[in-house]
Amino acid sequence: MMANRKLKYWGWGYEDTGLDADETRSLMATFANGFDIQASRDGSFPSLDAIELPTCRLDISAALSKVCTDDKFERVYHAFGQSQADSIRTYNGDFEHAPDVVAFPETDRHISELYEWADKVGAAVIPWGAGSSVVGGVTSDVSSKFNGTISVDMGRMNKVIEVDKVSRAARIQGGARGPEIEAQLKPHGLTLRHFPQSFEHSTFGGWIATRSGGHFATLYTHIDDLVEATTTVTPAGNVVSRRLPGSGAGPSPDRFVAMGSEGALGIITEGWARLQGRPTFKGTAGFRFNNFFDAARAVRAVSQAGLFPANVRIVDSTELQVNGVGDGSFTLMVISFESADHPVDAWMTRAEQCCLDHGAVVDVEWRDNPEAHLQGAVGAWRTAFIRMPYNREQLTPRGIISDTFETAITWDQFEEFYESIRETTRTAIRDVTGHAGAVSCRFSHAYPDGPAPYFAFHAPGDPGNMLAQWREIKSRSSDALIRHGGTITHHHAVGRDHQKWYERQRPALFGDVLKDAKKRLDPKGLLNPGVIVG
Ligand SMILES: Cc1cc2nc3c(=O)[nH]c(=O)nc-3n(C[C@H](O)[C@H](O)[C@H](O)COP(=O)(O)OP(=O)(O)OC[C@H]3O[C@@H](n4cnc5c(N)ncnc54)[C@H](O)[C@@H]3O)c2cc1C
Repeated sequence: MMANRKLKYWGWGYEDTGLDADETRSLMATFANGFDIQASRDGSFPSLDAIELPTCRLDISAALSKVCTDDKFERVYHAFGQSQADSIRTYNGDFEHAPDVVAFPETDRHISELYEWADKVGAAVIPWGAGSSVVGGVTSDVSSKFNGTISVDMGRMNKVIEVDKVSRAARIQGGARGPEIEAQLKPHGLTLRHFPQSFEHSTFGGWIATRSGGHFATLYTHIDDLVEATTTVTPAGNVVSRRLPGSGAGPSPDRFVAMGSEGALGIITEGWARLQGRPTFKGTAGFRFNNFFDAARAVRAVSQAGLFPANVRIVDSTELQVNGVGDGSFTLMVISFESADHPVDAWMTRAEQCCLDHGAVVDVEWRDNPEAHLQGAVGAWRTAFIRMPYNREQLTPRGIISDTFETAITWDQFEEFYESIRETTRTAIRDVTGHAGAVSCRFSHAYPDGPAPYFAFHAPGDPGNMLAQWREIKSRSSDALIRHGGTITHHHAVGRDHQKWYERQRPALFGDVLKDAKKRLDPKGLLNPGVIVG
């Protein structure tokens, strides 16, 4: 745990952070006035005292007692991640499957000892970075065939161990959170610049394990692009890859064992990451479009022009409105360029032309305007985006279902795909809740061959039945993603919530290869059961 500040087991971040009363009132008013989504209850999450935990089933061995605990708060805190289902189950006080023990290893050796202990007693092991998974990746609900569950929190392995300034790379431990990494790189004048929205409470190892998507909307979108080498400690031994700027030597060990492994093949204890210079040249602009598809075509033009902006996000009128920005009459594009080496005006000028060619009007003028990112709809959206992670802990207790799902699709299929997914989700909400709800979309990332659309949906739930309602809506939109040729996830990962659809998406024979890899690396199947390998 972080010194002196306690993390919430019921929501995002520290207990002393979150929406204040005014922000909460404003959020509820936006939902009520804009979408007729009203609170059906005004409840609160159960207190720690009120939560009933089953008795711990495991005896912590003397050898591991310094790094293991069965403390109630730690067991409660590590029971769930940050998914909508996790939030509803926390509200319902459903802690029957909380981990028996939480371990805080300090070395690779501790992790190997934990595996040996888990093997001996027949316990499942769930690797835990910072628990920000929104897809049930750390939800400690495993098969009853296990005699216990151990959550392995990597928080004590949080150092930047080495910086290679010549190659601009750093060796970073798996449990280092975003701010810890940047603080340790700052004295070297370098930065990883991988900023997922969950940056503050997610880790380097978690990013690699989930192939997370950062703030770079083009080019270095996933952490994959920033990883040079990895060390993964598995029950069968360690897989340590070689530091190379590139290699054509067969299938990549980083990609095969570490990236996207989601705690099912081993624990990533460290890795080498590619760094960047701190950007000194920056430019941000905002453009408004009357039509979402015009904005999407402008993104395609920018992406295919090879300009590679750091940010090129379009946000539809509903998503803007849900977040208290705009009047529902326009789609917003936020576009930014940055460089530690050269001015970016030439790139921005060309990108602006791509937008104007598609009917854009300027929301925020970028020329000679270093404050552009704080102004107009761009600035309002930025503020809402920063506060967004705190919304759910206010909405769940009020009986409002609120979730996101994200995907990717090639440009040739995009428009039809978008209409189908939006309509399926709207119909599901209507069927399940009897209410129109709200379904919105933005692009989180964009490629020359297609965008990564990020959908959000909100609806008033039936307080006694919210989990089943959410599951039905989620299931129908996930079916649609696969049916219409998209991916079940662009960057949120598979976890327990997407496993069924991941199995439909991946080639069957590749699934068999993964099962064989799992058998070799984790012969007893102790690691994160139900994730990646069903
Ligand atoms: C508010 C919010 C915003 C978010 N924004 C983004 C975003 O912008 N981009 C994005 O990609 N995701 C986002 N996410 C999802 C989440 O933050 C990412 O999946 C993140 O990479 C998870 O990191 P973590 O350290 O918290 O991992 P955890 O949530 O603890 O774990 C995630 C998975 O990885 C495994 N794992 C964790 N650490 C290790 C390790 N060292 N070795 C092996 N396996 C491990 C776990 O077992 C689990 O399966 C967001 C989540 C929230 C709540």
